[in-house]
Amino acid sequence: MSLVVQKFGGSSVADAESIKRVARRIVDTRKAGNQVCVVVSAMGDTTDELHDLAAAVSPAPPQRELDMLLTAGERISAALLSMAIDSLGDSARSFTGSQAGVITDDVHGKARIIDITPGRIREALDANHIVIVAGFQGVSQSTKEITTLGRGASDTTAVALAAALGADVCEIYTDVDGIFTADPRIVPTARKIDRISNEEMQELAASGAKILMLRCVEYARRFGVPIHVRSSFSHHEGTWVVDNESARNQQGEEGVEDPIIAGVAHDRGDAKVTIVGVKDSPGVAAKIFQTIAAAQINIDMIVQNISALDTGLTDVSFTCPMSDGPRAVEVLQAAKESIGYDQLQYDDQVGKLSLVGSGMRSHPGVSATLFQALADNGINIEMISTSEIRVSVVTKDDQLDDAVRAVHTAFGLDDADGQAVVYGGTGR
Ligand code: ASP
Ligand code: MG
Repeated sequence: MSLVVQKFGGSSVADAESIKRVARRIVDTRKAGNQVCVVVSAMGDTTDELHDLAAAVSPAPPQRELDMLLTAGERISAALLSMAIDSLGDSARSFTGSQAGVITDDVHGKARIIDITPGRIREALDANHIVIVAGFQGVSQSTKEITTLGRGASDTTAVALAAALGADVCEIYTDVDGIFTADPRIVPTARKIDRISNEEMQELAASGAKILMLRCVEYARRFGVPIHVRSSFSHHEGTWVVDNESARNQQGEEGVEDPIIAGVAHDRGDAKVTIVGVKDSPGVAAKIFQTIAAAQINIDMIVQNISALDTGLTDVSFTCPMSDGPRAVEVLQAAKESIGYDQLQYDDQVGKLSLVGSGMRSHPGVSATLFQALADNGINIEMISTSEIRVSVVTKDDQLDDAVRAVHTAFGLDDADGQAVVYGGTGR
């Protein structure tokens, strides 16, 4: 008998009909002879709606209360799903994250899982129940308060439970057939990937691919949990996210050469800050980024130009999450004297495209092809950064979709036959 962890996202449980459909699917999995532990997200756009409600009653909702509010979303879908399974004649038990033994640190809104003690889950499974766990939440070890794990984190709950239970697979059900070479909402010719290494998936997730949350992929990689991303609206085989070794073996068996590029990700969540006219001398960059770090702001890309000969001054640009942008400007303004610069520029009309593939390690010319594709489409590059298996560029926001399509085509990723299907979700 296998133990399967299944996670259903918000669009898969958006209304009563969907919940009944998902319940049937879960019962089928159990009838096939598996133990099933399910992790569920809040229905549809519930989390966003709860955020809006909180904002409507308070300009700055206390973090503790916000977590109490948001975790209710997942409790609703968990209980309803359990009832739907019960009405099909099977038995299910729903649990909050806290009851399921999801132990976190005490950071409200983006807590990290520090331990899972799945005693009650195991008991319920052994008593032949289907287990339903409310995703995206836990309880703080130190404060005993209810915490949430960050947007999209039901994926992380699922992988963490799969690791703790020693599950055979963690199935992530969503509203597309798997992981695509680009977001099918932007690139209709995007191709479904059959197998991807968790290294590449981690890089794609870090670059803005929304299909799996970054921390979930990190977790899966660390604990060796195989993930199967698939649609709850079809029975098609989805995408397997596996360790590098298995990803390569599989391709070897089929006699297919490793693809150089796994996919193209895009991200509209960053803003660009430019500090104009700073001295090109030791210690200036340190001062700038100490100021940013002290405000707890994470930065992504950094570009520094060489200084102009006549002035000895240069410009430094960086990107950070858009939500932190205004604060970054504020702290830099406050530090204007000590850093020493002429002017600040702020631009949140930017987007980032990232090309990811482990084949880049051994294939020269990837950047050249990428830049040419953008040039052919009249798209200007504002910033560039690279890692071993990724090249990212920042462009104007309104050119990002065109950029993604151009690059996708230039690397031969378009699927000639068939259009990717997006089954549901508002993409909110
Ligand atoms: N409901 C939460 C969110 O919308 C968690 C999740 O869906 O994974 O972010
Ligand atoms: Mg989600």
